[in-house]
Amino acid sequence: MKIPFLNLKVQYEQIKQEVLPMITEAMENAAFIGGPQVLGFESEFAEFCESEHCIGVNSGTDALRFALMAAGVGPENEVITVPNTFIATTEAISQVGAIPVFADIYHDTYNIDVTKIAEKITRKTKAIIPVHLYGQAADMDPLLEIAGQNNIVVIEDACQAHGALYKNKKAGSLGIAGCFSFYPGKNLGAFGEGGAVVTQHEEIAQKIRMIRDHGQAKKYFHDMVGYNGRLDAIQAGVLRIKLRLLKEWNDARRKNALYYNELLSDVPSVTTPFESDFAESVYHLYVILVEDRDGLQDFLNKKGVSTGLHYPRPLHLQKAYAHLGYKEDSFPVTEKVSKRLLSLPMFPELKRTQIEYVVSSIKDFFKK
Ligand SMILES: *Cc1c(COP(=O)(O)O)cnc(C)c1O
Repeated sequence: MKIPFLNLKVQYEQIKQEVLPMITEAMENAAFIGGPQVLGFESEFAEFCESEHCIGVNSGTDALRFALMAAGVGPENEVITVPNTFIATTEAISQVGAIPVFADIYHDTYNIDVTKIAEKITRKTKAIIPVHLYGQAADMDPLLEIAGQNNIVVIEDACQAHGALYKNKKAGSLGIAGCFSFYPGKNLGAFGEGGAVVTQHEEIAQKIRMIRDHGQAKKYFHDMVGYNGRLDAIQAGVLRIKLRLLKEWNDARRKNALYYNELLSDVPSVTTPFESDFAESVYHLYVILVEDRDGLQDFLNKKGVSTGLHYPRPLHLQKAYAHLGYKEDSFPVTEKVSKRLLSLPMFPELKRTQIEYVVSSIKDFFKK
């Protein structure tokens, strides 16, 4: 059996009948940038995220960068986030001229350890970016409290958490802004690049609308130096079609995760994902923890099971961040789990028989 890590082709088959006429119509109307598809998606995604405003942008990275800019984060400021995330989180911080400051993660959820934040706050700290990793919300209440006490804004990196819940509230709706990616492999993915910021604040929304469109409030009148960071109309059209199915797809991911958990419950060498009481994960990734991670990955590969690593080298140990001067052992939890985490195949259409095959292959490995 061959089991892909992700299969976007089956998803396409499900929506093909709706997508193709939408694309044809966009071509025939030559409606490529902005327009009704983008406006329609923005209002539907804002509603989905229980947020007042949504601004479609080019990518999740742009969403984070524009949110930081709109919140007034700039040169010399410090922004606290985790070393166990995709580099886009800190690229956005670096690109506005600010300095990423890392806080370690919990060993069970792999999300930011809120007890490690206070010690990182200085006079320069302007923002905290919690990452809702693998689809599970970080512990937002204590985090928002620390931020509030110190006059720091919270920008959520919800790029892996479309539809995830924190105490029954939508991920992305809790901070000053929530940032999403529509990279094809995300729970809500476009047919190319895409992203969005959601916010409850009119002022932040207006600033981001300007930033994404060359700093113009009115055509050819530029109030600031901005970016070309808009969402394409065809991508917005694809996202509108997919958004209607997102709840169903997220539910299917959760079902798959529960089935994995059940089948793996008698494999003591495997730690299955831990879900906090306050969180309802949307399982962007299904990540297990094992001692001999590399051995298991090789073995599964030979059995035809594709897996992923999220993430094998923590950001503070990346060459790109050597100038920050972090050494090994700076973040023991992140460093320890980075050598042990393995992402198993996870997508809504994954079949029970495929999950059974993945788990029986894992059991074979430990029987060797
Ligand atoms: C995907 C992702 C991003 C960046 O999104 P792009 O659309 O690829 O720019 C940022 N943060 C996290 C945690 C992500 O998973």
